[in-house]
Amino acid sequence: MSVELVDRTLVACRVCGWVHYLMTAAEKRAHDQSIARYELSVAERDAYELEFRQCLRCETPSEMFRIATRQEIDQALNRTVTPVLVGDPAGDA
Ligand SMILES: [Zn+2]
Repeated sequence: MSVELVDRTLVACRVCGWVHYLMTAAEKRAHDQSIARYELSVAERDAYELEFRQCLRCETPSEMFRIATRQEIDQALNRTVTPVLVGDPAGDA
């Protein structure tokens, strides 16, 4: 998945500093639709939802994240930045 990171809200894990970008409600819906055909079990579905609710690296809940610093963002642009949901999904605006 290729995502334009310009003008994105980038957040960093408070524990390990790993940078993620905030997913919008529309993006989450698109993800949900892309996996709908797999007919996941309840456990698989929970695991799928959890992916967007925690740090990719250390599994810290996304509620613990903070806004990423300029330096962290610069470093993050050299690698894959993964999506995360914090609280309710951001609006479509
Ligand atoms: Zn982390």
